Amino acid sequence: MKRVGMFDTKPYDRTWFDKLNEGRFDIKYFEHKLNADTARTAEGLDAAISFVNDSVDARAIATLCEGGVSLLALRCAGYNHVDFKAAYGRLSVVRVPGYSPNAVAEHAAALLLCLNRKLHKAYLRTREHNFTLTGLTGFDLYGKTAGVVGTGRIGRAMIGILRGLGMRVLAYDPMPAPGLEGATYTAFHELLAQSDVISLHCPLTPDTRHMLSAEAFACVKPGVTLINTSRGALIDSAALLAALKDGRVGAAGLDVYEEEGALFFEDLSGEVMSDDTLSLLIAMPNVLVTSHQGFLTREALESIARTTLQNIEDYFAGRPLGNEICYYCQQSGRSASCARTLKGRCF
Ligand code: NAD
Repeated sequence: MKRVGMFDTKPYDRTWFDKLNEGRFDIKYFEHKLNADTARTAEGLDAAISFVNDSVDARAIATLCEGGVSLLALRCAGYNHVDFKAAYGRLSVVRVPGYSPNAVAEHAAALLLCLNRKLHKAYLRTREHNFTLTGLTGFDLYGKTAGVVGTGRIGRAMIGILRGLGMRVLAYDPMPAPGLEGATYTAFHELLAQSDVISLHCPLTPDTRHMLSAEAFACVKPGVTLINTSRGALIDSAALLAALKDGRVGAAGLDVYEEEGALFFEDLSGEVMSDDTLSLLIAMPNVLVTSHQGFLTREALESIARTTLQNIEDYFAGRPLGNEICYYCQQSGRSASCARTLKGRCF
């Protein structure tokens, strides 16, 4: 029986993997994240299952391969935490491309609605029997303009929700989807200038890192509401802080943060926060931070476990891998995985 190590395991992950494994693999659950220091714990295993805040760099990959691991199964859609150049030709990498686009889009919408109608403040007030309304004024989303950056699976689900709210939707994607419904493609700077709400749904690549920088914030419609459920480093956090302070950004709903790796998914409530930028963001009344929970629905967790186990089974059975990604396709930022690869090598 193939031995599989699962990193950064939480109880809610284990529930589904145990239920759906059905004795196929011997799964060793690790609470620690996968990185260069912990990769040696996978020695003797055949495959490693990794999550979003692992750091699968060249050293981690070398250690995994030396220990006998030949497959890295990402139990997520994003793959920016893997050094594909180092993996190329040594390690096959599979992922779960579209486990539940609706889960993430619905969380993005929840952040938007909560921030706009200040539910996070109202909840705290009424718990204290403070029934005043001063400071809780929002705006009608109906008839306003939303800008969706990235029109893949999640971006398209978000467009459907925004249209349901009666919003006009602009979209930006360097690889426009033919026949996109509900939104009009526009240039990135036009989207910035016209949108009352901007929601990010593109992957983190060298091209998209800090796509919302000080220069971009200088071009947004003053008071824009920004939602990011994609990857933290799409936004320059220091520039966001400045834009929130001077009012260019009216509100920000952040499910991801560029330095989340050492913080999110952990209970740090008894410790002094070491990240000053995050402390300041969290302290702002018009900022709502959730710790990368967009994927956290029953349906998405089940789908992640089912597809990850199937990816592993297909790999060891020598079947074609529809969900494999390699150095070349992740560099191009295209959403589809390689059609035919062998240990990360397209052919
Ligand atoms: P997808 O691959 O279906 O779509 C991504 C889209 O982004 C593609 O259409 C692609 O062309 C586009 N894109 C690439 N470069 C771009 C650029 N420079 N500007 C604008 N668009 C660009 O991916 P998806 O399933 O929709 O997921 C989107 C992202 O959401 C993932 O990359 C991941 O980072 C994030 N995500 C977050 C969570 C969460 O829990 N918060 C869960 C799943 C995915």
